[in-house]
Amino acid sequence: MKNINDVEIAIVGAGIVGIATAYYLCRKYQRKSVLLIDSRDPMSYTSAQSGDNYRNWWPSPLMTSFTNHSISLMQDIARESHNVLQMKQRGYALATRRPDIDDLLATLESNYGSSDGLLRIHTASASSAYAEPYNENWLSAIDGVDVLSNKELIQRTFPAFDSNVEHVLHVRRAGTISGQQMGAYMLEQVKPLGCNRLRGHVESIVRGDDRYTLELSTQEGILSFKADTIINAAGPYVGSIAEMLGVTLPVENVFHQKVAFEDRLQAVPRNQPFAIDLDEITLDWREDERIALEEDSDLSWLTKPIAGGIHCRPEGAGRWIKLGWAYNRKISQPDNNQPLIDDPAYDANFPELVIRGAARLNPKLKPYIEGIPKGRVHYGGYYTMTQENWPLIGPLDNNGAFIAGALSGFGSMGACAAGSLCASWVCEGELPDYAEALTLKRYNDPALLAEMSATNIGLL
Ligand SMILES: Cc1cc2nc3c(=O)[nH]c(=O)nc-3n(C[C@H](O)[C@H](O)[C@H](O)COP(=O)(O)OP(=O)(O)OC[C@H]3O[C@@H](n4cnc5c(N)ncnc54)[C@H](O)[C@@H]3O)c2cc1C
Repeated sequence: MKNINDVEIAIVGAGIVGIATAYYLCRKYQRKSVLLIDSRDPMSYTSAQSGDNYRNWWPSPLMTSFTNHSISLMQDIARESHNVLQMKQRGYALATRRPDIDDLLATLESNYGSSDGLLRIHTASASSAYAEPYNENWLSAIDGVDVLSNKELIQRTFPAFDSNVEHVLHVRRAGTISGQQMGAYMLEQVKPLGCNRLRGHVESIVRGDDRYTLELSTQEGILSFKADTIINAAGPYVGSIAEMLGVTLPVENVFHQKVAFEDRLQAVPRNQPFAIDLDEITLDWREDERIALEEDSDLSWLTKPIAGGIHCRPEGAGRWIKLGWAYNRKISQPDNNQPLIDDPAYDANFPELVIRGAARLNPKLKPYIEGIPKGRVHYGGYYTMTQENWPLIGPLDNNGAFIAGALSGFGSMGACAAGSLCASWVCEGELPDYAEALTLKRYNDPALLAEMSATNIGLL
């Protein structure tokens, strides 16, 4: 075994969350001895699978505050870097056919209603107060939510949408970034400030009298060194790293998939924002297909109502579109020795299912059901999540171990807030109001437990 130099702070995981934590430790708190450890290339695991969408729309006000803070931090980076992270802000369009949306309005009221003019309801067929989603420049983008409750206005603004849509919630502080560009920029910034990287697999972490000893397997053999502080940012493996420290985390991994293909039929207008069908759906099947599915115990669920949340957005400057649907609820454990591309959790039926689902909101997608596009890219990765779908950020033990993890399907948009918050815990900086609620302590707080179990988890 070879010993290498000890460090002040060792971060396990160089995905977007570990990198963002290093960025705030070095940039905000001037820490000069930070080591980012990963057995893979930076940003190459879950962070490489992200759809890179961001939003401040959440059923829980806490998550709205958390992502709002993250978006502001991303805007700081966009400002100082000539928008190296390619931030675009056309909003999210959430569509429903339900006539009564009092529950959705109540959530919007609690999240946006406290500030004047952030919740705007449009019931007429034309509204000069409504800014259409055609501008994607984040610098001039507006905040808040526009609720379109007039079918004529909806059809004019979103001509590809199903004509039965009764309401569209157009969330304005939402859009896309390039997570890979953001990660690369942060790495570039922290390098001269004292952040080094080490390629290796963390095999063990042992707490000694005053510091942690880490053992890593690397190409050069087993390496060992000591660190005052450990940050667990190991993505789907936060549970395994926490176990090394004697802590069991309430996190689960669930595999989620996306499909992208060239929209040669031009079914989705290029200026359509990220669009989400909120309604529960029962998929359309031919009678013979339905009977066959009902007879198969593994597939009969496909004939029953399924939770909504099917989403679709134009991708890039060409004609590609990207579709997703987080219908999977099965917990599975990824294999750290296997690339995600070979993960057994892939569902070969996913491309067809998501196209079937998305064709309800965008009926022009229907021809793709019979001819699933051949050049499609089907990819996926793990949402590492707590049951309430809030992240875990803060102390992991009382000795100098911290976590920045469980960022589920919001880790690209949440990385800046997570990294900045974790750095503030480590460096005893100022903490936002929601800081305690994102630590393990929340499970001992009856009021928070009640709030968590009563709130929709906002999974997309
Ligand atoms: C299909 C899909 C779509 C998504 N879309 C979006 C989206 O639109 N918007 C959004 O905000 N988020 C999205 N997400 C979520 C986002 O991608 C994740 O939340 C985020 O990438 C998690 O980052 P991370 O740094 O925690 O994990 P990772 O990127 O997985 O990084 C963890 C790193 O830890 C390393 N590691 C683990 N164990 C060890 C060990 N023992 N030794 C050394 N290294 C180790 C791994 O190699 C890995 O590189 C999506 C996720 C998926 C799967």
